[in-house]
Amino acid sequence: MDLFSGTRANPIRVAIIGSGPSAFYTAEALLSNPEFVIEVDMFEHLPTPFGLVRAGVAPDHPKIKTVTHTFERTAGRERFRFFGNVTFGRDLVYADIAPRYHAAVYAVGAQTDRQLGVPGEHLRNSHAATEFVAWYNGHPDYRDLTFDLSHERVAVIGNGNVAVDVARILARTPDELRQTDIADHALEALAASRVREILILGRRGPAQAKFTSIELRELGSLADADVVIDPADLELDPLSAEYLHSGESKTAARNYAILQELARTGQSGRRRKIILRFLVSPVELLGVDRVEAVRVVRNEICERGHFMSPCPTEDHETIPVGLVFRSIGYHGVPLPGVPFDDGQGIIPNKRGRVINEHGERMRGEYAVGWIKRGPIGIIGSNKPDAQETVEMLLRDMAFHQHFCPVNPTRESIDRLLAQRGIRFTTYEDWRTLDQLEMERGLAVGRPRCKFTRVEDMLSALEETHRAPVP
Ligand code: NAP
Repeated sequence: MDLFSGTRANPIRVAIIGSGPSAFYTAEALLSNPEFVIEVDMFEHLPTPFGLVRAGVAPDHPKIKTVTHTFERTAGRERFRFFGNVTFGRDLVYADIAPRYHAAVYAVGAQTDRQLGVPGEHLRNSHAATEFVAWYNGHPDYRDLTFDLSHERVAVIGNGNVAVDVARILARTPDELRQTDIADHALEALAASRVREILILGRRGPAQAKFTSIELRELGSLADADVVIDPADLELDPLSAEYLHSGESKTAARNYAILQELARTGQSGRRRKIILRFLVSPVELLGVDRVEAVRVVRNEICERGHFMSPCPTEDHETIPVGLVFRSIGYHGVPLPGVPFDDGQGIIPNKRGRVINEHGERMRGEYAVGWIKRGPIGIIGSNKPDAQETVEMLLRDMAFHQHFCPVNPTRESIDRLLAQRGIRFTTYEDWRTLDQLEMERGLAVGRPRCKFTRVEDMLSALEETHRAPVP
């Protein structure tokens, strides 16, 4: 049995599965721990790191992506290694991790979408917004999807930031998009888009919308799109008025003021319109072999416990649309051999410690980020979340509540991957790809042209390695 001591001779070895913000914040919290010597191996399904920072953050939000500079510093630490192009559950399983590490941290995020549960939801031209986002960001697993942008009117269902991202990307001009790192295939398809009206449908009222204020305000500053809000839609019911006036949520009050301002601004004949509608829930997507309309019910806000819920009335409306994006939240996906709570879409855990269906602790296993707490919060929310998980992990180490690895060495995982013939990428490889993408961008006056196929990434790396050093 391995006796860990967290020293140079016998470091604590941690495997992190996933490489998004929660994974990097976890790595940093471990590697900067002053008490123990810790080694971190990070395993990622794609050849490239950063999870939703690369494949989720909107391409026209480059500032948000600069968080990768922080991750870069973590990756530069001596005891950090990145293994890209390694899929947990296929190339590497739990039974490979436990003999080689003291702990595993699952940082895999929430990889699918929540379901509306209404008839017609899966008709052609009804898509999860999460897939559209992954497509326009060039995620290799989604880059071959197609979206029928030949229709003039599109509905985006949901009142969160993803809905706003999707609406904005649909509304931007080709010139605006060209200045971003949006994937080439998406740029081309969006440049030919015939979409004119983008309806954002919220099931609750303007006081309950989940947008953050900066994102909401940004809708009003697009080059060739007007924001349309019917002032009647901003009339507040007594519960919402009381909520806004109570000062309980500064964001809600700010959002409401922005919505009023946007409604007042009115239309100025721009080519596209983003129309915000509130208090409508889809009850059915209508169409024969593709979406032709969305049928909605009008809601009222009513109080359920402390929650301001959408309660349906008798009023229905059919809105003709040719394309629907369901943007009602992400949902976690189970990992083979790891406990999973299907209802919540998370790995069940107590403060990051994984528990099974009987509530018993799973020694050596931890969760962090969206797969731990559900798909809420911004990138920065993952920092305290990671610190909590790492605190639990280190506390457990002190009580020998860890895996008992028979082979806790760096070489043993290298050997295993080599035996299996897995062509993994290193962090150095990512630096090369990063550089190549920026060079490709520079050549056409864009910030970056992403590789969107795994095979293209791997052959670009081979070529670079083969090229003679000047
Ligand atoms: P979200 O913020 O949870 O919003 C989901 C929306 O879907 C809510 O408006 C919700 O309404 C609605 N919804 C849920 N079920 C519904 C149903 N059955 N019918 C109709 N509407 C339904 O999720 P998200 O937009 O996917 O964003 C996920 C997280 O990422 C959020 O924390 C978000 O802030 C963050 N994010 C941040 C940025 C940024 O900072 N720029 C960008 C993108 C995402 P209710 O409120 O009534 O439940």
